[in-house]
Parts: sequence; C-alpha cells; structure tokens
Amino acid sequence: MKEEEIRPRDVFDEYLRLAALDADLYFAHTVRQNFLCPACGEQGAHSFDKHGFSYQECPACHTLFVSPRPPAEAFYRYYQESDSARFFATTFYKETAEPRREKLWRPKAQLINQMLRKHGADRHTLLDIGGGYGIFAEEYQRLYGNKVTIIEPGPELAHACRQKGLTVIEDFLEKVQPEQLPIGPRAFVSFELFEHLHDPRVFLKHLSALMQSGDMFLFTTLSGTGIDIQLLWEESKSISLQHLNFLNPESVCPLIEGMGLQVVDVRTPGKLDMDILYNNRARIKDRFWRSLLARSTEQQRAEWQDFIVGQNLSSHMSVVCKCP
Ligand SMILES: [Zn+2]
Repeated sequence: MKEEEIRPRDVFDEYLRLAALDADLYFAHTVRQNFLCPACGEQGAHSFDKHGFSYQECPACHTLFVSPRPPAEAFYRYYQESDSARFFATTFYKETAEPRREKLWRPKAQLINQMLRKHGADRHTLLDIGGGYGIFAEEYQRLYGNKVTIIEPGPELAHACRQKGLTVIEDFLEKVQPEQLPIGPRAFVSFELFEHLHDPRVFLKHLSALMQSGDMFLFTTLSGTGIDIQLLWEESKSISLQHLNFLNPESVCPLIEGMGLQVVDVRTPGKLDMDILYNNRARIKDRFWRSLLARSTEQQRAEWQDFIVGQNLSSHMSVVCKCP
C-alpha cells in the first residue's frame, strides 16, 4: 500500500495548514498543566517543541507525549467546532472515502472479524468509538451482518453517519452513559483515536466501567517506537497537532491492565512505514537509513516492511483487550 493512495499529499497538506492555524486559535491561550507519562505515570523528559506543543519522552517506558497539556475542554471545542476538524470531516474524508474504503476499511473489517472470531466474539454487537465517516461500520455490517453503532462527537460526521442509516451516539465516549449502549455482548473498536485522547486513563476508566464481562475492546493507534516515527522524530507528520500520546507495544499493556482490562494481543501490523520513510528520506538524519532508502528497490522496501512488522517495530499498533 502507498501513503499517497489513502492520504493524498495536497489534501493532507491543506489539512495540516488549517490545523496549524487552529492550534493557535484553540490552544495558544489556554492554561496548560504538567502531564505525567500517560502509560506509567513517570515524569517525562523534554524532547522537542512542535506546532506550539512541547513533547516529552518517558525515561521508563519510552512513551512520547505532549506535556504540559491544555485542558480537555479546549480539545472538546476543537473537535466540535474548528475549521480543520470540519475540513477533515468533509473534504478529507469525502475525497478519500472510496480509496480508503477499499484499501483500508474493508481489510480492517476483515481483520477485526478474524480477531473477534479467534476470541469467540464475532457475534458481538460492535461499537465504533470515533466512527468518523462510518465507512468501517458500513463495510462491517455489509460483510458480516453485525449491527455497528457509532460513537462520534463531531456534528458533521454524526450527521453523515445518520444519513447512511447508521445508529449514532453523538458524543465523546467519556460522556456516554451505560443506558445509551445496546444490550448484549459488545465489542468496542476505535481506530487512530487513542493518540488524540486528552487523558487515556480517563478514557479507559470510563470505557472499562461501561464494559461487561466478556466484552472486547480492539483499537489501533500510533506506536512511538515505530520505525518511521523514531527515524523522522520531530519531522514526522504523525507528530502533529492533537496527537498527544504515542504509546508503544511495551508501555500499552501495564496501562490497560491497570484499568482492569486484560490485554490478549498486541502487534504492529503496519503497511506504510517504509513508504513514509522513502517519501521523507531527505529529512532523515541517520546516514545508514538515508542511504539505504535512496538505494532501495520497491521489493526490498516490501521485505523490510515485513521484517519491521515481525519485530513489532511499525508505528501502526493494534491492541486487543477483554473485560474479564
Ligand atoms: Zn512511561
């Protein structure tokens, strides 16, 4: 898979431009508070500043995170009202909907079904937290017939999902009440949401209280120890506005288990690391990788990608948890 197919450069760059303006508008004048490592609670060490945010790395578990942090309300307003959130909801999602459906969401629906089946949970009702434009939900319902409910706070996105006939809870998960959820066994899923959470502990605590014994939670997020993030570091486009938490396969387990959930599978099944590195090779400081990428063939990059995935070193991480 190529980065360009699911994230066309001009559309993505326009989103980044608007996001930088919103960073100023929504966050520049907020009072920020020191934030301890979202995974293990250690005090982080400053690594770099970018787009008006300061990034720290945890000396104990290597989680990369934003600290100090603006208050949760600033993020709630940003996601519900800002131009860049609206651009993402309308232009970005719309323009990339069909290639993403085929390249991203359909394989994801298949993968999620396989994982659920492996854990005897493939008849569970799905809840997609931060369900966005609803394409995963559409694909999953079409392929497997399970009902998928969307939890989505963005008004444009929630509206788009309702227009597709999907059931929507229009709110942040942290504000959802148990009586709003469908009854029976449930599998919560969230894709590329965890990195945005103002406080992963608050999110997990709330989610864990909503879950019943046997319910599942499957999510994907960015791993900060993934190769493209490690090599590009502050130059990485993944390290951009509103990505506040970059956990990793080691640091995510104690966090989840501390919240009363059981981690049953962690891996990094990414497909894009080598393509992202190749496209950004001029920004890489490491001589070995810059040279290797410049000389590499597509076939070699594909082989490296497989190796990276096997070593849990991709920046795309998936985690499967169960409520005991
Ligand atoms: Zn830590």
